[in-house]
Amino acid sequence: AKQEGRNNYQWYTNDLNLRLRERVHLRNELQKAIETEAFELYFQPKIEGCSGQVIGLEALLRWQHPQMGFISPATFVPIAEDTGQIIPLSQWVLETACRQLRDLLQQGIAAPSVAVNISTVQFRRINFVKSVQSALQKYQLKSEHLEIEITENVLFDNTEKAIEKLQRLKELGVNISIDDFGTGFSSLSYLKELPIDTVKIDRSFVQEINTDSRDAAITQGIISMAHHLRLNVVAEGVETEQQFKFLQQSNCDQYQGYYFAKPMPFEALKQYLMDEAAR
Ligand code: C2E
Ligand code: CA
Ligand code: CA
Ligand code: CA
Repeated sequence: AKQEGRNNYQWYTNDLNLRLRERVHLRNELQKAIETEAFELYFQPKIEGCSGQVIGLEALLRWQHPQMGFISPATFVPIAEDTGQIIPLSQWVLETACRQLRDLLQQGIAAPSVAVNISTVQFRRINFVKSVQSALQKYQLKSEHLEIEITENVLFDNTEKAIEKLQRLKELGVNISIDDFGTGFSSLSYLKELPIDTVKIDRSFVQEINTDSRDAAITQGIISMAHHLRLNVVAEGVETEQQFKFLQQSNCDQYQGYYFAKPMPFEALKQYLMDEAAR
């Protein structure tokens, strides 16, 4: 048992070293990617339940590394948050989302609002609201064109400051969604204080909605509570017709997921929106 313990320990430290080296490597590669703007935004439609219309888009960050291939934002966003690289990266996302939406509108393509995922690190910056305002101005967009998605984490420390910031965004006219709703550990009581418009039910609940009665109960609870608070509800990660049916019967408002459309690059989005307009 002793022997085994030592081996485990060795394996563990090697594994740690490896992960550390990987992280350092990724950080350096991220730096190059930021400098060369080696990123791309994909867009995933949000669908309105009754009409089936596209009522929004979510911008999702993509990094195709020349040697390592596709690297998920779930991997590199946390590293960029640790190193502070998230700041220039977020700025690129915000501006690119606005610029591409402006391009669509200029080309006469009927485009709904675009939602951008906001890192907690980015949100906490003093000039965050200003940067949103500047991006809108720079690309001559109305505030209704932009939506932001934040997680409950932004409320963790200095809740009052966070609420004040949300208030200012709200006054600008930007729509605000709480992402990954139901996965955080914060108390629900904060919901009534927040100037938000929408909650997004996390994919982890939607996944088992037809097979696990607990996920079904949580989902229906969220929808009912949100509606009583006059909030809009979006279900994310809808992959099957059964999931969609169940959510529809539970009065969910909007849907996102592979069942409707996968995230797509800008050129494909253009075609998608034109096809939708012709329907
Ligand atoms: P999220 O904001 O919760 O985004 C939803 C994720 O679910 C996306 O993964 C999307 O591609 C994926 N998805 C959508 N529909 C389905 C479905 O039907 N089935 C399955 N299996 N997956 C689906 P993605 O693009 O890999 O992003 C992962 C996370 O990375 C995001 O989670 C978000 O937290 C973060 N992220 C992505 N882009 C950005 C960004 O520009 N800025 C920041 N700060 N974070 C970002
Ligand atoms: Ca999101
Ligand atoms: Ca999520
Ligand atoms: Ca997330």
